[in-house]
Amino acid sequence: MKPLNILSIPGDGIGPEIMEATLPVVEKVLTDAGVSYEIAHAKLGGQALDEYGFPYPDETKALAQAADGILFGAIGGPKWDKMPRHLRPETGLLAIREDLGLFANFRPATIYPELVSASSLKPELVSGLDILIVRELTGGIYFGKPRAIEEREGERVGFNTMIYSESEIRRVAQVAFDAASKRGGKLCSVDKANVLEVSQLWRDVVEEEAKNWPNVELTHMYVDNAAMQLVRAPKQFDVVLTSNLFGDILSDAAAMLTGSIGMLPSASLDVNNKGLYEPVHGSAPDIAGEDKANPLACILSAAMMLRYTFNLSEQADKIENAVSKVLAAGYRTGDIAGQEVGEKLVGTREIGQQVLAALS
Ligand code: NAD
Repeated sequence: MKPLNILSIPGDGIGPEIMEATLPVVEKVLTDAGVSYEIAHAKLGGQALDEYGFPYPDETKALAQAADGILFGAIGGPKWDKMPRHLRPETGLLAIREDLGLFANFRPATIYPELVSASSLKPELVSGLDILIVRELTGGIYFGKPRAIEEREGERVGFNTMIYSESEIRRVAQVAFDAASKRGGKLCSVDKANVLEVSQLWRDVVEEEAKNWPNVELTHMYVDNAAMQLVRAPKQFDVVLTSNLFGDILSDAAAMLTGSIGMLPSASLDVNNKGLYEPVHGSAPDIAGEDKANPLACILSAAMMLRYTFNLSEQADKIENAVSKVLAAGYRTGDIAGQEVGEKLVGTREIGQQVLAALS
């Protein structure tokens, strides 16, 4: 069998530290399972700007296009904040997502029993929480044209276009129905169909697609109500499907329900389940190089890669179980510490080594 083709892009800030803790975990589960793999390395964002003068250089593009699964740390930092927009680290991330056609963004919001008290909500509201937000990532108002700021009748006017084609809605809906069919069997599609035509089409197409998924219970919710329900009674949701803009906002709100941004993985997939896997957090320049970063979101992103791109659910489970064991044993990085007695405060390297040890 062809070896799995994995690309590692550590990025900037804490990216290299969390990647250093993650790769040995991936290598161990694959080696233990007798699966052959190759891991290439590439630069994106600030590091790439420094070396190549572009945030998404051709060298990285070629490796990214050839890879099946891409594991990414984070990009950005104050050093590059004043660069023009096309030479900003973030432009590199948008470019790779667009180049690879990564239209479906998966953001699970799962809470570990040991971290329930880190949530801003009452324990009974979040205990056992397990939501998956599926966000459309390459369309909608973030990419729609026309878009501009221009002069009209003596004043500046800014405008963007919220646009979705039927096929864009259908392909992300299919991914979300499929995910719901493999989880709790419930899909809530979030839109603003009472006001926006683009949302009415969204709702119509999702309804049509539902006929192909008789085992999934479909509901619809307006985005304003969804925001309220997420903080009122989040456990009512299983899978949430929504557009680029609404998903951007709702997934951050869902992330905070779990208490720590250092625990949240994500996946962005193309039509063939090729994917870019990354923690939800940024490059945390305030703690970079200090061995303080929590690598668990990156490690859990690697587990998602094994599950969604490589169909290695058993190996993904092994990584997730190892993370649970490490938390249950009381190991904590600073961002998740201070909840319980008997915790052991450790750094990035040590918690990574504990996950590795828990795999044995
Ligand atoms: P951030 O997520 O980097 O940091 C926010 C806060 O959370 C900081 O206090 C940080 O120390 C903490 N934090 C984040 N990840 C952590 C981890 N793994 N362990 C422990 N603590 C952690 O967000 P920000 O400060 O708004 O942005 C910093 C830089 O990251 C900016 O340049 C921004 O553009 C970039 N950014 C990149 C991505 C990405 O690469 N996908 C996403 C968001 C922000």
